[in-house]
Amino acid sequence: MRAIVLLGPPGAGKGTLARDLAECAHFSVFVTGDVLRKAIQEETELGRSIKSNVEAGRLVDDETILTLVRDFLRSHREGVIFDGFPRTIGQAKALESIIGADSLGVVYLELSEEMVLKRLGSRRNCPACGKIYNLLSNPPLKDGICDDCGCALIVRKDDDPDIIKSRYDVYLKETAPLVEYYDGRLIKVNADRSVDEVFHDVRGKLCQE
Ligand code: AMP
Repeated sequence: MRAIVLLGPPGAGKGTLARDLAECAHFSVFVTGDVLRKAIQEETELGRSIKSNVEAGRLVDDETILTLVRDFLRSHREGVIFDGFPRTIGQAKALESIIGADSLGVVYLELSEEMVLKRLGSRRNCPACGKIYNLLSNPPLKDGICDDCGCALIVRKDDDPDIIKSRYDVYLKETAPLVEYYDGRLIKVNADRSVDEVFHDVRGKLCQE
């Protein structure tokens, strides 16, 4: 297997799982959202062109995302874990044409709408090292401070309560159909558990593949 796709609604824990899996499998991680947010922060041409969509919780167009993915894969030929990609059927088909369907493992983190809305409202991010916390399920040891690098944690702009609901609606319309698209080759996992439980479950299931 050369690539693992983490599928699931926003707030299901894809980011944390991607980091933990990458560490144990020695895979690279490609986090589309992080790449886009960095471009916005650095006010690059890409950043300026996608800012309004990302901050409003709308998807960026497939071609822009696929250009970023192709660039990344050119310099990362070992295993890759995708967090936040693919998010449309078009992106999923393109990924298969780039790396081949047989090279792909798909993990689906299942979480109810109620939990998605709860979790996104209590997510905190470290702007320096990227570590993700949740005040309910995975809080930092010290209030508001990253355990790993000591930086002050932030709330993402698109974790604003007004935007959270529209991001979930976008997920249902554009990304949830991928569950059916990948039917028969999905590793399904209950994401309504602790970070450690989800990680051990996924690792065990991937090892059996
Ligand atoms: P995330 O951090 O994965 O929640 O992504 C944050 C935002 O970046 C999303 O709400 C989209 O605006 C954009 N984005 C990230 N990945 C993709 C993708 N694969 N396709 C389109 N837009 C994306």
